[in-house]
Amino acid sequence: MALDLPIVNPAVPAGADVKPQDHLPGNGLGTGKKAHIVTLGCQMNELDTQTMFGLLARMGYSRTDDPAEADVILYNTCSVRENPERKVYGQVGLLKKLKEAKPHLIIGICGCMPQSRVERQKLWERLPHVDLIFGTMNLHRLPELLMQVQETGQRVMEVWDEEGDIVEGLPVVREDRLKAYVTIIYGCDYRCSFCIVPQTRGRQRSRRAGYIINEVEQLAAEGYKEVTLLGQTVDAYGKDLGDGTTLASLLWRLNEIPGLERIRFTTSHPRDITDDLIIAMRDAGKVCEHLHLPVQSGNNRILKLMGRRYTREEYLALIDKLRSNIPGLTITTDIIVGFPGETDEEFEDTVRLVKEVQFDGAFTFIYSPRPGTGAPRLPNPVPEEVQRTRIHRLIEIQNEITAARNRALVGTVQEVLVEGKSEKDPARLTGRTRGNKIVVFHGDEALVGRVVPVRITEARTWTLVGDVEVAAAARTA
Ligand code: SF4
Repeated sequence: MALDLPIVNPAVPAGADVKPQDHLPGNGLGTGKKAHIVTLGCQMNELDTQTMFGLLARMGYSRTDDPAEADVILYNTCSVRENPERKVYGQVGLLKKLKEAKPHLIIGICGCMPQSRVERQKLWERLPHVDLIFGTMNLHRLPELLMQVQETGQRVMEVWDEEGDIVEGLPVVREDRLKAYVTIIYGCDYRCSFCIVPQTRGRQRSRRAGYIINEVEQLAAEGYKEVTLLGQTVDAYGKDLGDGTTLASLLWRLNEIPGLERIRFTTSHPRDITDDLIIAMRDAGKVCEHLHLPVQSGNNRILKLMGRRYTREEYLALIDKLRSNIPGLTITTDIIVGFPGETDEEFEDTVRLVKEVQFDGAFTFIYSPRPGTGAPRLPNPVPEEVQRTRIHRLIEIQNEITAARNRALVGTVQEVLVEGKSEKDPARLTGRTRGNKIVVFHGDEALVGRVVPVRITEARTWTLVGDVEVAAAARTA
């Protein structure tokens, strides 16, 4: 269905609330000391880690990648699946020896795991050498909590179960010089029966547009070329603000920021994709044509049990609408295999949907029961070996589709933001297309940070290979 709506460019209230706060203790307690953070999980956690490094830097800590030379070690944990949780017990358990050799070492666990009452109690009891436990909703309290541990010599556990006000103006130490994450909405108001996020990240809370615009302007002024707007349900942005702000209106405002080349956003929920958003993706020049749109299953009974609030048919109709309105759109997805009660035939519905949609990529997961969610109570869990067989089959099918989608780009010219030398092939440069595909190509390092046209000459499953269109690149210099 082609959209025939007027181009909208609604104003976003931006003025009065742009007041970054500066209320953090920069107390010098970390002067001459080093901090190491292990990050598990999603981009939200990556950004939280960058914020914690910002807070620690204010205290005087410098960063180290070597836990052996750290004075503070933090584990920023993930609860989405069981495996990363197990990893925390194993890895933090091994730090006991380091702590014995270095008694002043402070070990902390933060992120999603402590947001579960049961889990944080378990962490507290099973890892007695851990000094500090805090959660996602009071991350900004890290300086005070560290001071408390240092001053009292006691273990400290402080986890907020209720989300407080959004704290603006926290310092962030970013690793990348070209691309930055910016959270625009915290938490989630959906209640998918397999998902722990509403418990670990709380209710949906959107940041005021003014703060976001201010932050992105600052990033562009510092030379950042691309921002990725983050949220568990990023396209629900603004619903809770009550001032008419939407993701679409925010995108239009960010699109005007000089110096910024690209805007991405993730993760989307199919229910929240509006016509205005589709138009912004089509017409706002800096908004990239890539959507990560988790489908989770291709079977209506399973979708209902998952609490996803759309049907297979609605999802397919949305894909059709998106593709017919946004030329060159790439679509990636998440799929859960072996959800409780999923029959062979129901799994085949997912396979059929995957073949029909032709996703550019898919993150496939075996269902992992999370305590405190609804799904573990469902009957007929799928045996592990069946889950494994199904996921292998799905991965194989999707890999073929991904390779075919990439092959279709051979001969085309793609706009690539040059990110640097390829790690695997340092003789070449690497960058991403607007559709978020990785491209490697020969070129001068002076191209880093620029958007250049690259003709695709070869397609591999995960990467594209190409040549810079030299004359066109010179014109854009
Ligand atoms: S919409 Fe996403 S984050 Fe929210 S409950 Fe469902 S899967 Fe979890």
